[in-house]
Amino acid sequence: MELRKTFQFEAAHLLPHLPEAHKCRRLHGHSFTAEIVVEGDCDSKLGWVLDYADITAAFKPIWEQLDHRYLNDVDGLENPTSENIAVWIWEQLKPSLPLLTAVEVAETCTARCIYRGE
Ligand SMILES: [Zn+2]
Repeated sequence: MELRKTFQFEAAHLLPHLPEAHKCRRLHGHSFTAEIVVEGDCDSKLGWVLDYADITAAFKPIWEQLDHRYLNDVDGLENPTSENIAVWIWEQLKPSLPLLTAVEVAETCTARCIYRGE
């Protein structure tokens, strides 16, 4: 069974390796969403896979590094594309959330990236 929990963070970034003329090379911001996906067996007595609050607790220190930040200044996010943010979240979250199976990062309502740890 799969659970998904969505978090939002507001942040600024620019993509430093793009040509000067590309709009994403300029400093700009997004209302990002990070969807955290876990998978596991449903406990027959509790009737759940995991407490959603455990996902929130595991994600909180990561969220604090992202929300209202200039992402290019965050260690490991010097090139903060959605792809790199998803990998960065995965690497920090997996040790404290072993049931993690995917991280989805969306910059806009219509553009998102899914990383499954491969
Ligand atoms: Zn952007």
